[in-house]
Amino acid sequence: MSHILIVEDEESLALGLQFNLKAEGYRVTLAKDGQEALKYLDENKFDLVILDIMLPYYDGFEIARHIRQQSEQLPILILTARKGLDDKLKGLKLGADDYLTKPFALDELLLRVQRILQRKAWYRGDSSSHYKLGNFEIDFESLQIKGKEQTIMLTLLEANVLRYLLEHQGKVVSRQELLENVWNIDSEIETRTVDIFIARLRKYLEDDPSNPRWIQSVRGAGYMIPEIDKKDKTKNDT
Ligand code: CA
Repeated sequence: MSHILIVEDEESLALGLQFNLKAEGYRVTLAKDGQEALKYLDENKFDLVILDIMLPYYDGFEIARHIRQQSEQLPILILTARKGLDDKLKGLKLGADDYLTKPFALDELLLRVQRILQRKAWYRGDSSSHYKLGNFEIDFESLQIKGKEQTIMLTLLEANVLRYLLEHQGKVVSRQELLENVWNIDSEIETRTVDIFIARLRKYLEDDPSNPRWIQSVRGAGYMIPEIDKKDKTKNDT
């Protein structure tokens, strides 16, 4: 049973979410402020965190940062205020997987939760594949990019974006295509979201992210990883 942590200080909203998520069969823990959230995160293993941004003691950004220091793989769905475009972008940059703008429809939240958890389950069962991009070795099983100097842990969404591009090497992939296939379509997710994930991946893989060698921009069309030379490429399905 998936265990969800809801971090939300608006009591009526928190209780409503808890009630409905429990009705869907999830195990739910409520944290009413940032302090409780950190305590529960240290004490328990969760499968998903639904995270409000404006919170007493520690805000959602601080909680997200804390989560990413402990785990790259715990999915985070942030809840932001209507006008908080900056909040959304900041949240995504800090490693959140998805966001919802308040007020949101309950159905929409349940759908997002379901998708995020499916993505997680799907990922776990995936066969291993390894790629080599220049000095980087990408291991999708352990979600790691191994470079000469350091190893970077990918979040599930980062890995899924990168894998999609690698599986379509030499082809231009549009933002829309990424939204449909990696995020499982969501017209509410702006294409700007895709750009942020691309920026996150470039930071890991590119010597000069402003002049990318691996994840190239194709103006007006999307992104592309050029075909990797055979000698640079190792892929095994064992
Ligand atoms: Ca709040």
